[in-house]
Amino acid sequence: MFNVENIRKDFPILSRKVNGKDLVYLDNAATSQTPKQVIDVIVDYYSNYNANIHRGVHALSQEATDKYEQARHKIQAHFNAKHAHEIIFTSGTTHSINLVANGFTSILKPEDNIIVSALEHHSNIVPWQMLCERTGAQLKVIPMNQAGELIMSQYDNLLTENTKLVFVNHVSNALGTINPIEYIIEKAHQVGAAVLIDGAQSTPHIKPDVQALNVDFYVASAHKLCGPTGQGMLYGKEDWLKKLPPYQGGGEMIAEVTFEKTTYADLPHKFEAGTPNICGGIAFGAAIDYMNSIGFEAIANYEHELLEYATAQLLQIEGLTIYGTAKNKTSVISFNLDGIHPYDVGTILDKLGIAVRTGHHCAQPIMSFYNIPGTVRASFAFYNTKAEVDALVLGIKKAKMMLS
Ligand SMILES: *Cc1c(COP(=O)(O)O)cnc(C)c1O
Repeated sequence: MFNVENIRKDFPILSRKVNGKDLVYLDNAATSQTPKQVIDVIVDYYSNYNANIHRGVHALSQEATDKYEQARHKIQAHFNAKHAHEIIFTSGTTHSINLVANGFTSILKPEDNIIVSALEHHSNIVPWQMLCERTGAQLKVIPMNQAGELIMSQYDNLLTENTKLVFVNHVSNALGTINPIEYIIEKAHQVGAAVLIDGAQSTPHIKPDVQALNVDFYVASAHKLCGPTGQGMLYGKEDWLKKLPPYQGGGEMIAEVTFEKTTYADLPHKFEAGTPNICGGIAFGAAIDYMNSIGFEAIANYEHELLEYATAQLLQIEGLTIYGTAKNKTSVISFNLDGIHPYDVGTILDKLGIAVRTGHHCAQPIMSFYNIPGTVRASFAFYNTKAEVDALVLGIKKAKMMLS
């Protein structure tokens, strides 16, 4: 049974003080906290079997290789990929997107177009703009409405037979909107376009099934789902990963090297040049295990309860506007107080031990859409409590009094 007080005991950081107050950590969309089950795996790696992988004949190297490849299998099972070699370890969502964007350089022609959404993180905008600069292809944008939802009828109109790729996030980091990716994928496939889904914000709340979605690429970062920073993944359909050229050259990714010609290693190693974040990969697997031990359905239900509780209370505060009111959203609340800069609100909350994010959340086009400099964003995880929501509400009221 879901018991938040027991769950909180898994997270050492949650019992620390900040500015003399109990920490209230509500910046989970930027990075999640790490349970001791994952910290223990990291300590165990460096204490007992730290070694380079894949080439060593010695015991430590074998152990590290086994654990690293086991983690790949855990991730494969979690996302229901058909093959373990369809899971590429990367340093995170940003790296994964750049890998695919680089690969499409040789595929796109100047008459082609690719489609992004208005709701994206800069990580899912800039690499594609760079791709368009290299190839002459056109970047088109699915627009959003006031609620922070994508306008699907306009998406239909953007698709043409020259559309080669569509890339949207599953969940918006700035607003929490859950996008209709099933529809987006199906429509893209009808014109022969591939789809990449940025799962950085969905994977902490939702367990995606890449085969049921029939998605071509799905990317995520470990640090947003209780894993370490500097670690992520790219899922790609085998056919696509075979078709795309390697991203980086170096050790690990080759079959044979001569000065005349080099041949590349098979998947997944073709895309994993150099010594990877071995401990990070293993800890990513442990984080997936931990999240599954709690259960994604229980996580989603509990977080939804927190979201509704927090939304109702925040709307009672006069002069507070919530941005992102999609019907389908995760536990993210972006808001502003009338006439008060978000940074000032964040600073006062910090003095009270409450960690929120302020600013544009790496999504400047969304802020431009609402014509605001940024928002205050409170993002909840399954280890947050209603008492913490109460502390936030009190803190906002205090900030409003001091600043207006
Ligand atoms: C955090 C985030 C990213 C970038 O992830 P990194 O771990 O910084 O590479 C990309 N897209 C979305 C939606 C995000 O929330």
